[in-house]
Amino acid sequence: MHIESLKLRNYRNYDQLDISFDDKVNVIIGENAQGKTNLMEAIYLLAFTKSHRTPREKELIKWETDYAKIEGSITKRNQTFPLEIVISTKGKKAKLNRLEQKRLSDYIGSLNVVMFAPEDLSLVKGSPQVRRRFIDMELGQIQPTYIYHLGQYQKVLKQRNHLLKQMQYKKEDRTMIRVMTEQLVEHASTILERRFVFLELLRKWASPIHHGISRELEKLEIKYSPTIEVLEGANKEKIEAIYLEKFHEVETKEIERGTTLIGPHRDDLIFYVNGKDVQTYGSQGQQRTTALSVKLAEIELIYNEVGEYPILLLDDVLSELDDFRQSHLLNTIQGKVQTFVSTTSVDGINHETLNKAELFSVTNGN
Ligand code: ATP
Ligand code: MG
Repeated sequence: MHIESLKLRNYRNYDQLDISFDDKVNVIIGENAQGKTNLMEAIYLLAFTKSHRTPREKELIKWETDYAKIEGSITKRNQTFPLEIVISTKGKKAKLNRLEQKRLSDYIGSLNVVMFAPEDLSLVKGSPQVRRRFIDMELGQIQPTYIYHLGQYQKVLKQRNHLLKQMQYKKEDRTMIRVMTEQLVEHASTILERRFVFLELLRKWASPIHHGISRELEKLEIKYSPTIEVLEGANKEKIEAIYLEKFHEVETKEIERGTTLIGPHRDDLIFYVNGKDVQTYGSQGQQRTTALSVKLAEIELIYNEVGEYPILLLDDVLSELDDFRQSHLLNTIQGKVQTFVSTTSVDGINHETLNKAELFSVTNGN
């Protein structure tokens, strides 16, 4: 799939933009603070309805205006259709084929995007929250119903935590909390079951990619670390039974603490290179290679699930990779993935790539 054209209105530092792209490689060149990341963010937003760098949507609206609009024309399976996001002080609207989609799960998945930016190093170095967000976003875009279960889970979790807080101070009968536990487990087990399947696929693609990028010197392993003792790959029924038992075990402790102590909202991913935890022992280069392999694996994973390659956004990262890794990356995607590369200078970019690319220069939102 690819994005044919993009229209922006009052988006970040863009007043008005109307632009068409190449379906292979697009290089966005500009000095700092001109609007390169903003442009990538707009494409990301069309796919996910969310920014990759802020949860506060107000920030996306150009200063001193009251709404922002992003329109994209997407080609997928030989059909071209419009996507549109409007953000105003009243909220956000997402339109697919000019029809507003009230449920996020009806919109997300229309456009698939994989982004790799310097802050993605936090996938390895950052907190478990970053890794859970990664799983949720990536899984959500190939399986929109996952977003539904995640939303329901978060809703029940909030209510349950609220009740646990109240129970901390006044002894209440436990009937209500048990009802909520059952509701929570219903969604928790679906989430975990699907994460297991996703992990299996991610591993399948990430390990050989990592092996290639590391010049066949390193072996990447990915482990999922849940809050219950369960064998990876277990089905929903099995997971449900284990959760119920464990919740029963920790019930008193949860009331004492006033919060939910187990569940997918506390799980984590651990990356190992040659048997050692990369977060703790990996060099900067090993951490970057791990994050990159996982992102590149996403491309193949989406292709296998969706039947089309996603769009790849490389914000400020290409020039940070050494020559070997840059060529390896570009060879992997060569010709099949519409790619956007941003850079402050063309010097760091492969000649071969530059020759094939369409170049865009960005100055002050133009
Ligand atoms: P760098 O090379 O430093 O990464 P960049 O080209 O990626 O730079 P952007 O992150 O796209 O730069 O930001 C460009 C400019 O947009 C910044 O100067 C920022 O202050 C401005 N900006 C951000 N949000 C808004 C907004 N809501 N309204 C107007 N301008 C904004
Ligand atoms: Mg930037």
